[in-house]
Amino acid sequence: MPSIKLLPDQLISQIAAGEVVERPASALKEILENSLDAGSTDIAVALQSGGIKQIKVSDNGNGIARDELNLALTRHATSKIASLEDLECVASLGFRGEALASIAAISRTQITSYHADEKHAWRVASEGSFLTDIEPAALDVGTIVDIQDLYFNTPARRKFLKTENTEFGHCEEAFRRVALSRPDVSLLLQHNGRAIMRLATGSAEKRFEDILGKDFAAEAFYLDESAAGLRLWGMAAKPTFSRHARDTQYVYVNGRFVRDKLISHAIRQAYQDVLHHDRHPAFVLFLELDPALVDVNVHPSKTEVRFRDGQAVHRFIFHALHKSLAAPVGLPSSLTPD
Ligand code: ADP
Ligand code: MG
Repeated sequence: MPSIKLLPDQLISQIAAGEVVERPASALKEILENSLDAGSTDIAVALQSGGIKQIKVSDNGNGIARDELNLALTRHATSKIASLEDLECVASLGFRGEALASIAAISRTQITSYHADEKHAWRVASEGSFLTDIEPAALDVGTIVDIQDLYFNTPARRKFLKTENTEFGHCEEAFRRVALSRPDVSLLLQHNGRAIMRLATGSAEKRFEDILGKDFAAEAFYLDESAAGLRLWGMAAKPTFSRHARDTQYVYVNGRFVRDKLISHAIRQAYQDVLHHDRHPAFVLFLELDPALVDVNVHPSKTEVRFRDGQAVHRFIFHALHKSLAAPVGLPSSLTPD
């Protein structure tokens, strides 16, 4: 029998990276979430080769002070929670303190950041967790996270990468998910030097139209229902705009994009009477509730949630959507007959 050994820190991070960084798009998601958590209102994403060669995210958030740059790349180091109580009502997108460390362990990563407490910006570089010294850098505001050569030191993972186009498609989808949820943030997506999407700030409806298209916007109705501490709002398409694929289905819980069977089921059921069984509804819906009533710490990728009272959530979503689907659509409520 081999003896039990404690694994070296870099290997621990590489193992953890398997869960957090499934593909370039998962790294992009984490980096975008960090920019939002830092209060950014303007974020630019530049990708090379579907994110495989480079993922570079520049934001105008509050930045990282010099003495915390190393910590940002350290596992289980976070500025977002400090106790179990904090975790139970977490409002930030991140809280696990492992995304940057995991990404850094399997790439060449540079972070350049300006923090108001400093006279100028600082930069730290890492190659597979080996940090270089922190150096002065030129940057007026925010943070640039530059991730290059993802999986360069984990060839087994690299083999699972698909073509550049496929990986770019996943990155684009990660970008859309963020963009749909934050019309108050201007966003730019570039791929191989070409601008792919440029989104100005504006109303939620405008952002939905920018991302999901004019056809969706023309065929969808706005809803905003509240009951017993739960709120569901967003846009859902009339049954006439149903799809063959589930490609226009976005659900957020407290601003976080999630995949949730319970919510999907409630939505599906609300559409049941009006939709042919082989068609899929199209929607972008935001559920808001007391953070203490939902556990977001279910999986490292944080796209799964668990509700304290799942049945109440199911019932609420079903009724809210069912009611909106039954109401005359497209007319302002003041014009609807009694
Ligand atoms: P988490 O987001 O769970 O805290 P991360 O590994 O993603 O963990 O990030 C570690 C820390 O680095 C964050 O808690 C935050 O303090 C800091 N950080 C990361 N990205 C940014 C950014 N773009 N702007 C400001 N601070 C950042
Ligand atoms: Mg994070």
